[in-house]
Amino acid sequence: MSYVQNQLELLKQKSPGEPEFIQAATEVLTSLEPVIEANPKYEQNGILERVTEPERQIIFRVPWVDDSGKVRVNRGFRVQFNSAIGPYKGGLRLHPSVNLGVIKFLGFEQIFKNSLTGLPIGGGKGGSDFDPKGKSDREVMAFCQSFMTELYRHIGKDVDVPAGDIGTGAREIGYLYGQYKRITGLYEGVLTGKGLPYGGSLVRTEATGYGLLYFTKAMLEKNGHSIQGKTVVISGAGNVAIYAAEKAAQLGAKVVTLSDSTGWVYDPDGIDLKAVKEIKEVNRQRLSVYTQYRPNAQYHQGRGVWSIPCDIALPCATQNELLPEDAKQLIENGCIAVAEGANMPTTIEATQMLQQAGVLFAPGKAANAGGVATSALEMSQNSQRLAWSFEEVDAKLKGIMENIFANADAAAQTYGHAKNYVVGANIAGFVKVADAMLAQGVV
Ligand code: NDP
Repeated sequence: MSYVQNQLELLKQKSPGEPEFIQAATEVLTSLEPVIEANPKYEQNGILERVTEPERQIIFRVPWVDDSGKVRVNRGFRVQFNSAIGPYKGGLRLHPSVNLGVIKFLGFEQIFKNSLTGLPIGGGKGGSDFDPKGKSDREVMAFCQSFMTELYRHIGKDVDVPAGDIGTGAREIGYLYGQYKRITGLYEGVLTGKGLPYGGSLVRTEATGYGLLYFTKAMLEKNGHSIQGKTVVISGAGNVAIYAAEKAAQLGAKVVTLSDSTGWVYDPDGIDLKAVKEIKEVNRQRLSVYTQYRPNAQYHQGRGVWSIPCDIALPCATQNELLPEDAKQLIENGCIAVAEGANMPTTIEATQMLQQAGVLFAPGKAANAGGVATSALEMSQNSQRLAWSFEEVDAKLKGIMENIFANADAAAQTYGHAKNYVVGANIAGFVKVADAMLAQGVV
């Protein structure tokens, strides 16, 4: 059995009940075979054993009081996965589906994503099974303050810098930051995704979605396509989906779908983003009300965006939302590219089907790295006590995304898997981290 396969077997035995983590590790480790075989030093130095074991995992109780006076308890997590190339960096997910396996999968992916950005940031992730949906602002604040009352002792601007993710937007980051400052007395860039008046960066809100489109455009152009005039289907209606839709429209494509966890909309005339922002960002409503703004649009319950014929598909909601039957439908409908805005939205089998059918496939750890890259730019601005202009940050983001594509493309070619951006991204992200670990000795 190869070193890679052996490690995967051991990992399965050691991590029962963590299917998402095993899925992510399988996808990454399998694609590293060529570079592992060419470099026996990685096996000799136990790099795979070390890179799949978090440096530290923190699990804690988060008690808070709801509006009826009842005490509620959630579970908090922070997994500090790898600090070989910089302080831990990765978002906080607030969603009922959060458990240790989900946070480990996200933290593991984050190591290679952060490395791909070319910036000095290690990998981590955290969150809680708390659901902000349907809670009052006061309840969300009570939860965030309690969460930070434990988390603060494990983080810091040069130690671990959390950010937003599903369920954690500007409101939650604000409450978390206020509590950190109150406990520690430090006004420092310990969180990213902050509001503009207190150290946030322009473009951070748009960064993941915009970055996804910069990457997609680079990938299409390298393969002889243009984004102009293309039909795009997007899942999700949160931060990533909204700004992916905005940039796609700016680049001349037509976005015809969005979804949330209860249903999806199809708007053949092109999604009205002003309406979506009002529904989601201002009123915090369900997507079903979209048809009140656009009578020609259709709303359907359940899932179904991948059934709409398109040129480009952008899964931007959550993990494992694009299944083999969806891949089949996309292929039959003539889709030419799938780019992941969410983390691991496409199952391994669906990814393989798309790649075998010649559909260009951009993995999330490369294509959605614009968010964390801009977070790192926010950290730089905080350290310098400066605020850069929108144009300056956007230009840096674009350059970083084009660079990530070029590096993934080159690594895929070097290791004999031309155009396989999954292999290319994993190898390009891994080598830098692995070599930093080698240089730092057995730690
Ligand atoms: P948001 O919370 O802003 O939006 C998430 C969207 O996905 C919502 O429309 C939500 O619907 C939907 N969704 C969430 N969970 C499910 C589910 N289980 N089934 C169906 N729909 C679901 O999160 P983001 O936009 O920030 O994140 C989306 C994805 O992008 C995640 O995978 C995240 O890890 C990834 N990502 C985010 C980055 C960022 O900068 N924000 C950076 C890199 C990756 P509903 O409101 O009904 O729950």
